Amino acid sequence: MSETCLFCGISSGENPANIVYQDEMVTAFWDIKPIAPVHILIIPNKHIHSLNEISEADGPILAHMLFVARDLAKEHGVDEDGYRLMTNIGENGRQTVFHLHLHLIGGRRLMGRIVS
Ligand code: AMP
Ligand code: ZN
Repeated sequence: MSETCLFCGISSGENPANIVYQDEMVTAFWDIKPIAPVHILIIPNKHIHSLNEISEADGPILAHMLFVARDLAKEHGVDEDGYRLMTNIGENGRQTVFHLHLHLIGGRRLMGRIVS
């Protein structure tokens, strides 16, 4: 855990968030500035800076993040119409919070290409 990390604070309960799911490995919560009717962030409870910093040992956590994303998509009714799952990395990827997170975005028709 990084003491100054916003998302570590959310997974530990020190920072407020609208949590939709939590277990020993991951936490999922609503994005504070949603860009679609469903916009949930899925994070590992363990501090990982970005996808660049994952290791082989993180495999089970990463797989679990995908399963949780799949289940939350279904729970929030976007699985059949479709949704987008993405992670931003670094400066050019426009990552703004440096704790690995998946954006689960759905509930409207998204742009055909990721243009911005
Ligand atoms: P990224 O640009 O991929 O690093 O995404 C960071 C996301 O975190 C953005 O979509 C923000 O709206 C979201 N965000 C920032 N602070 C909070 C917070 N306190 N609670 C929930 N979401 C947040
Ligand atoms: Zn963190």
